[in-house]
Amino acid sequence: MINIDLTDLVQMEKIKYSSKSQLARINTEAWASKHLKCQCGGDLHQEENNKKVVDFTCIECGRQFQLKAQNKKFGTVLTGAEYYTFIEYLKNHTMPDFICMHYEMHNDVLTVKDLFIIPGEKITADVVIKRKPLSETAKRAGWTGYNLDLNKLKMWYKRLDY
Ligand SMILES: [Zn+2]
Repeated sequence: MINIDLTDLVQMEKIKYSSKSQLARINTEAWASKHLKCQCGGDLHQEENNKKVVDFTCIECGRQFQLKAQNKKFGTVLTGAEYYTFIEYLKNHTMPDFICMHYEMHNDVLTVKDLFIIPGEKITADVVIKRKPLSETAKRAGWTGYNLDLNKLKMWYKRLDY
């Protein structure tokens, strides 16, 4: 008789998942720094992981970029991180351009399906949608996320050749 411990399976599934999303992040960032250039023609320098809002800086003109990569098509909203941090950043800094990448990954091989830029100057408070704070029972109770309203932004999309 084979004895399967389900808690072990769940654990394994979690590890598999986190390493998969991490792998996707590493792959998409590497792809972007290799294939994409700034509108001025300059190469993109990849920033340290702890710089949360800025992922790349143009080595020629200093323009900043954030990479938003997801393995599904872009719909009407773009999921962001913490709302208050973002609003604070919006008030005090120049918003980086958002590089939006729709990718597929099969057997660790990355295929880019769609790619466009949202200019940072178009990302203003009126396109930021505050989400409901996480419930009391959640691990991060009170944590509040945000979405960007892509319906208001899609007229500014700049498609990228790659
Ligand atoms: Zn540049």
